[in-house]
Amino acid sequence: MTNHFFRTLLCTAALFLINPTLDAAAQEQRAYDPEARLVELGITLPPPAKPVANYVNAVRTGNLIFTAGKGPRGADGTELRGKLGADITIEQGYAGARQTAINQLAVLKDMLGNLDRVVRVVKVLGMVNSDPNFTEQPAVINGFSDLIVEVFGERGRHGRSAVGMASLPRGQAVEIEMIVEVQPEESATMSSTNPLLLRYLGAAGWEIKDGNVTVLIDPYISRIKLGGGGHPDDNRPDYERSETAVSDTLLIDSIIQKADFILVHHGHFDHLGDVPYIARKTGAKVIGTESTITILRAYGIPEEQLYAVGGGEDYQFDNFSIRVVPSIHSALNEKHYHDTRRYNSESELKAPLRFDQFIEGGSLTFLARFEGKTVLTMGSMNFLEREMEGIHPDVLLAGINGSRLGLYNYDERLLTVTGFPPVVIPTHWDNFRLPYGYSQEANIDRNLVPFVEASAAISPHSKVIIPVHLETITIQ
Ligand SMILES: [Zn+2]
Repeated sequence: MTNHFFRTLLCTAALFLINPTLDAAAQEQRAYDPEARLVELGITLPPPAKPVANYVNAVRTGNLIFTAGKGPRGADGTELRGKLGADITIEQGYAGARQTAINQLAVLKDMLGNLDRVVRVVKVLGMVNSDPNFTEQPAVINGFSDLIVEVFGERGRHGRSAVGMASLPRGQAVEIEMIVEVQPEESATMSSTNPLLLRYLGAAGWEIKDGNVTVLIDPYISRIKLGGGGHPDDNRPDYERSETAVSDTLLIDSIIQKADFILVHHGHFDHLGDVPYIARKTGAKVIGTESTITILRAYGIPEEQLYAVGGGEDYQFDNFSIRVVPSIHSALNEKHYHDTRRYNSESELKAPLRFDQFIEGGSLTFLARFEGKTVLTMGSMNFLEREMEGIHPDVLLAGINGSRLGLYNYDERLLTVTGFPPVVIPTHWDNFRLPYGYSQEANIDRNLVPFVEASAAISPHSKVIIPVHLETITIQ
C-alpha cells in the first residue's frame, strides 16, 4: 500500500473501511458505543423524571457527574414498592434495580446528549428497602450494575456500595445514585480564532505554529543513512555511529526558517542531532535535559538560549507555556535497553561530537500550551502513567513505533490516561534513515495501521490524523 493510497483511504473513506482487516483480537474488542448497546437490548430511554423536591437530577463538576438518587419507576409511572425480605423477592428487587439504571441513563443522556461521552462509571451507591433480617442487598443491586456493564462494557465496571435501609421514600424498593466520569466539555479553548498548524518533520520531529510562536519538537531533518537500514537506491554516504556527526544544513535551510522554541525529548541523534545547527541559525530557546543542554553548550550555543530541565517544571513564556513531564525511553533492543549515562558540566565534550556521543541522557515529554490549544508531545514509545494523569490535551502526538508492542497494553493505557484526546497524531513511526519522499510503506503497515485500528476501538471519538512528511495539518 502506498503512502498516498493509505492517506486517501483514511481521508475519504473513513476508518470503518479498514475494519475488515482487523485481526481477531481487535474484533473481540467491540467498538465503544453505548447507544447501540441500548438498541440491541431493546431499551428506549424515557424522558428523565422531574425531581420531586428541592434538588436537581445531577450535578456536573469538572469531568464528573454526581446523580441524585433514583428509584424503580417504570415508563408507565408505576413504581416498585415494598421491602426486600418481607414483601418482594430478590428477583423483583433485581428488576427494580435494572429499571433504576434505565432511569439514571435517561438523566445522563439528557445531560450529555450522547452516552458515548461517558468515559467511565466510577461509583454506585445502591440502597435497598430491607427487612432487618435481609442481607442480600448485593444480589438486588446487581440488577443495576449488570445493565451498566452491558451498556458501557469495561468502562461500566464501578466501585459500589449496596446497603440496606429501614425505609425509602414512598416505600420504593430501591434507590440508587451513581458517579460518572465524562469527556471534557467542548472547551472554550477549542474555539480560538487562530488555527494550530503542525508540520511533520519525520521521526519525532514537528514544527507547530499558532500565529504567536513557532515551536520545533525534536527537529531531525538530515535523516542520515546511519548504521545500515537505509535504502539501496539512496546513494548518500553511509555513516557508522563511531563517525563524526554531520547535519544536512542545505536541507535544513530549505525547511526551517524560523523558530522561537525547540523542545528536545532526549539526546539521541534522531532527536538532537540537527538542533545545534538549528538553534544557532534561529536563535531559538532550547528546552531539554541537562545532558541535551550540555551537548548544545559544547557546540557553543549561547547560554541565554539554553533551558536545562529535570521534569516537573511548568514555564510561562510570552503567549506560550510549557509543562515538562518526566518520561522514559522506548523499550529498545527487545526491552534490554537501559542507558543511565548523563552529561553535565564535568563532562568533557568537544564539538563536533560523534553520532554515538548523542546519548539519551534521560527522557521527557512536553505539554505545550498554545493559544487556545494544548499539545502533548512524545519522543518515545513509552511514558510514565502517573506523570501523565490529569493531562488531557487537545492534540496528542502519540509515539507509536513497533517497540511499543513490548509494553503492557500500551495503546489503551496511553489513550485512556490522556483522556481520549479529540485529535491523535501518530509520531516517530517512520524509518528516519530514508530521505523524505521515499516510501514508508513497510512502517505504515507495521506501525500505523495497527495503531489506527486499535485507536478506533479504544477511543472511537478521537480523530486520528496520519501525518505526511513536510505537510501541514491544520487544527481549527
Ligand atoms: Zn531515542
